Amino acid sequence: MNPPLIWTNADLHCHSCVSDGTLQPEALAERAKANGVELWALTDHDEVGGQQRAREAARAIGLPYLAGVEISVTFAGLTVHIVGLGVDAEDATLVKGLAATRDGRIARAQEMADGLAKVGIQDAFEGALNYAGNPELIARTHFARYLVETGICASTHEVFRKYLVEGKPGFVEHRWASLSNAVQWIRQAGGIAVIAHPGRYKFTVNEEYALFTEFKAHGGLGVEVVTGSHTTADYVKYADMAIEFDLLASRGSDFHSPEESRTDLGTLPALAARLKPVWEALMERVQQAG
Ligand code: AMP
Ligand code: MN
Ligand code: MN
Ligand code: MN
Repeated sequence: MNPPLIWTNADLHCHSCVSDGTLQPEALAERAKANGVELWALTDHDEVGGQQRAREAARAIGLPYLAGVEISVTFAGLTVHIVGLGVDAEDATLVKGLAATRDGRIARAQEMADGLAKVGIQDAFEGALNYAGNPELIARTHFARYLVETGICASTHEVFRKYLVEGKPGFVEHRWASLSNAVQWIRQAGGIAVIAHPGRYKFTVNEEYALFTEFKAHGGLGVEVVTGSHTTADYVKYADMAIEFDLLASRGSDFHSPEESRTDLGTLPALAARLKPVWEALMERVQQAG
């Protein structure tokens, strides 16, 4: 018999101004609720500093909540994101691991600004820092906002394409957490590790296979199938891979900002019925009022 279908409109991936989103955690909770989200998680990059506010805001409006995080990882020379869901945001190992992962972002940002200065873009470090709600989390997104503000580009997507991806003047190679550490921190904190938006990585077939295999070997249990960064073809491809690798399936908009994000909270299609939703394994970690 199939498990009861609950929380069809789960949205388990988004960002607040505690990382590189533009909204406060409370505003995101309101927006999720207004858009019909039935189970929500805030998953800021490398940071759990917004978790208490998100949890309390969700509780106040009767929105079931899972604590989350999105960890930056270096795998096979590329950046991969691993989402942790249902974590204890106060777990010492997780908190320490995230602090180590954030370390180096300021120096990287200074190097990015040096690269941009060489092509005539001045004061990008200060400009980006102005947009960072949390200086420890200064991200490429903040540079993108600054370059749009100064009129150098018309959109943040254009900034990434012209300045912030590999081979462009503002790109700086960076070493993030290892896959093994990221998965261990999440597990240690009682959560489930999920490969974020696999369709975005520029891996070969073999490298992608290695990512899924090693992730499983470290105790990773889930993969995002329906996300704001996937095409409909990706929904099918990663549903197949979830089944092939016996992974739980997740769903999340990756919403960052009303002005920039193409996918709003709670607006994605449902997971295919053939998948096992990750939240069915996280029932005990869901925080609700009452
Ligand atoms: P960072 O962790 O500093 O490398 O910044 C990564 C963030 O940049 C991601 O989490 C996205 O929010 C954003 N990003 C990456 N690629 C793009 C893109 N092509 N267009 C817009 N935003 C992007
Ligand atoms: Mn981001
Ligand atoms: Mn991501
Ligand atoms: Mn994200």
